[in-house]
Amino acid sequence: MTQYVYGFAEGRREMADLLGGKGANLAEMTRLGLPVPPGFTVTTKACRVFLETGTEPDELGFEVARALAALERAAGRTLGDSADPLLVSVRSGSRYSMPGMMETVLDIGLSDASVQGLAKISGQERFAWDSYRRLVQMFGHTVLGVDTELFERALAERRTLRGATDDRDLDAQDLALLTEEFKEIIHRTTGEEFPQDPVEQLHRALRAVFSSWNGERAHVYRRREHISDDLGTAVNIQAMVFGNLSPDSGTGVAFTRDPTTGARGVYGDYLPYAQGEDVVAGVRNAVPLQELERLDPRSYLALTEHLRTLEAHYQDLCDVEFTIERGRLWILQTRVGKRTAEAAFRIAYDLLEEGVIGRRAALSRVDGDQLARLMFPRFATRPSDVPAPRAPAAAPGPPGGGAVSDSAEAVRGAAAGERTVLVRRETTPDDLPGMIAAEAVLTSRGGKTSHAAVVARGMGKVCVCGAEPLTVDPTARQFTTPEGVVVREGDVISVDGTSGTVHLGALSLTDSAVRQSLESGEQSDLLSVAVDRALSHADAVRRLEVRANADTPEDAACARRFGAQGIGLCRTEHMFLGERKHLVEAMILAVDGTAREQALAALLPLQRADFTGILAAMDGLPVTIRLLDPPLHEFLPDRTQLAVRIAASADPDPRDVHLLAAVERLHERNPMLGLRGVRLGLSVPGLVAMQVRAIAEAVADRIRDGGDPRAEIMIPLVGTVEELRLVRAEAESVLSEVFARTGTEVTCPIGTMIELPRAALTAGRIARAADFFSFGTNDLTQTTWGLSRDDAEASFFPAYLDKGIFTISPFESLDEEGVGRLITLAVEEGRAANSRLTLGVCGEHGGDPDSIHFFHRAGLDYVSCSPFRIPAARLEAGRAALGEPRSR
Ligand code: ADP
Ligand code: MG
Ligand code: MG
Repeated sequence: MTQYVYGFAEGRREMADLLGGKGANLAEMTRLGLPVPPGFTVTTKACRVFLETGTEPDELGFEVARALAALERAAGRTLGDSADPLLVSVRSGSRYSMPGMMETVLDIGLSDASVQGLAKISGQERFAWDSYRRLVQMFGHTVLGVDTELFERALAERRTLRGATDDRDLDAQDLALLTEEFKEIIHRTTGEEFPQDPVEQLHRALRAVFSSWNGERAHVYRRREHISDDLGTAVNIQAMVFGNLSPDSGTGVAFTRDPTTGARGVYGDYLPYAQGEDVVAGVRNAVPLQELERLDPRSYLALTEHLRTLEAHYQDLCDVEFTIERGRLWILQTRVGKRTAEAAFRIAYDLLEEGVIGRRAALSRVDGDQLARLMFPRFATRPSDVPAPRAPAAAPGPPGGGAVSDSAEAVRGAAAGERTVLVRRETTPDDLPGMIAAEAVLTSRGGKTSHAAVVARGMGKVCVCGAEPLTVDPTARQFTTPEGVVVREGDVISVDGTSGTVHLGALSLTDSAVRQSLESGEQSDLLSVAVDRALSHADAVRRLEVRANADTPEDAACARRFGAQGIGLCRTEHMFLGERKHLVEAMILAVDGTAREQALAALLPLQRADFTGILAAMDGLPVTIRLLDPPLHEFLPDRTQLAVRIAASADPDPRDVHLLAAVERLHERNPMLGLRGVRLGLSVPGLVAMQVRAIAEAVADRIRDGGDPRAEIMIPLVGTVEELRLVRAEAESVLSEVFARTGTEVTCPIGTMIELPRAALTAGRIARAADFFSFGTNDLTQTTWGLSRDDAEASFFPAYLDKGIFTISPFESLDEEGVGRLITLAVEEGRAANSRLTLGVCGEHGGDPDSIHFFHRAGLDYVSCSPFRIPAARLEAGRAALGEPRSR
């Protein structure tokens, strides 16, 4: 029989699929002997049944009753008892941490009767009513769907009435009146009475938490984080402990290391006289943990000890939620904490150095996307440029944009292609769409542990949280700096998440230290040292080589500094542009063979010089040169412009008339599927010969100059082996002619791109005429799906992503199921036919972490990507070799 309920003592950390992350970790901490309030977990399985059928599984009611009875026995109190009530929280918690995205109801078990009992037994009337009004509010919102604003407004009115600035200034009587008001609000808006039966409260809260899995913001978050919609959430029912009991109680969040920089040392926020959710909401500014050391040294000492225990046990950065009830410390949650890219590298390699984890674990904790982020430019600033004093830097990076006052405006801006910074007093989970849309988030309240900061860190967004000196006025849609400068919506600001500073206007950027150290090979800071160690380790274990896509000697040199082991794709088309355009026009317009030969002969020395430069920059390493690929009309003037020019002139230039005829002749409805790639080489006489001659002569020149050129010739868009055979024969005859004439003794491999499904399907035949395959995954994705990328991305892709048909664009991350299958087939049949075949990939996917893992598994020899992605690709290739799973 399926077990739907587990006591905290029954679970383990490894059971997160079933118990959710929160439940599994509560169980783990219970086993470790940490002070966790007792409770039990309702499994994700029960949630899935509920979501599928609309009702709970039959056994659940019974199992919950039994677990509750056990909890009551352990606590020595009965849920909602009128003399001495046990109160519980009902907390969401799925497999993957989704901070604040689902619901939790606290203080379940309070009623008109038990609030009196609680007041009497605790001797704190104010506390009892504070808890009751919180319950009515949370229950009203979460279970009964009442707009929280209504409660917040009533609360604000009560504060005004009493001249109070803070909820803490309201006394027991105020809170009792407020509770009545809240119940009235519920009755008015739902027609229902707030339920007085504690068991009914519990069950309805349980169902509401199940349902919050499908809430709007949970949905948005899962999309963004690529978490499956099918997992469901577990629910944790746990005895309440009270940070709002008295001024010497309180609640807080702590980290075992700094989640922003990765620096060693305990770190966090504490909020006296408050219940848990007040800290993460960032409603009131918490004090740093060091303050707790002064306020309550015993609890502080106990907390730091538990943090040490947890870090040693989880062997990683942990964050915890804790509550102190009259000097007694309770731990309410822990998880392996979200961190910035910088912190990820620092922490992994510090833990390695400390001997806590091994090299393999260290490499598994960092990834290519993080490394790429660390290579972004930073602001070039000095402290004197800072108008707003420093705030806790919550998530690093350099962006800026126009200030916006709410989530909707950020979303609108992003849709219009604008860069924005979302400026709020504090964020709530409902701001999630705006946080995704904005470049950066700035709040005047809260700290590193606020919801905004946690979510931003998880998303790799820049965030400055708690810039207290700023006065944010959402109604007027502006904020004011301490100097009195008013920043209105649309004014450009720059947010430096690394230093926690805000600057008016756009700032100039400077190279990141990580990028500089990668290029120079010298490490000047701790972060660069950590990155260097990660990369050396990855290089030592990876099987995939990493080459660059580079078309110029400068790019080739840059790629080489980043660790490229050759060029996987050198496109020749840009070599046909600019000054040389007229030569290309002459080639296209040539009326006879002689004119064409002349035009090609003029191009030859220019191409040769291009190749010589690139081969020199990549001396000793392979350089895969692709013959001309795009349709010829791309090199001709625009058809409409040309026609207009001719029409507007009384005596049109005959050259223009001639050109227009050519443009019209070459015009295609579907250029992507038209005269391009190998088809060009087979239709324009002399083109292949000219390009190959330029390559061969460049090779000969380099050898004469004492170099070690390793050119490879790549034929694009082959669909059948016949095409390759013909072009190959032509290329080979040119190569042997040039090499014989110059006395050059090298071989120059000739291979093909695999970028049409037919090529993949006939790879066994093609492989017999090829020395290498290079998968052109951009075109292969387009032709496999039968869509053109530019058209599709502009039209239906957003809808597809929204409807979940794609979780990610197949152009960003390789579609393993479809395109990947073709690749696997081509690899197998290609290798079977030609055991010496080299296999690589040169589409943009070559730099995408998930895709790199696939290419590793598919058995390719190398990936090729843009120079800037090379360090990330090296890292991911290493991780792939260790069999590290890339994503969920
Ligand atoms: P989230 O996933 O949004 O953090 P939680 O379930 O952790 O939601 O709960 C919200 C807040 O309530 C947290 O600050 C948590 O520490 C606090 N809380 C939850 N359960 C209890 C409890 N039994 N006693 C006291 N505080 C609690
Ligand atoms: Mg929590
Ligand atoms: Mg292509």
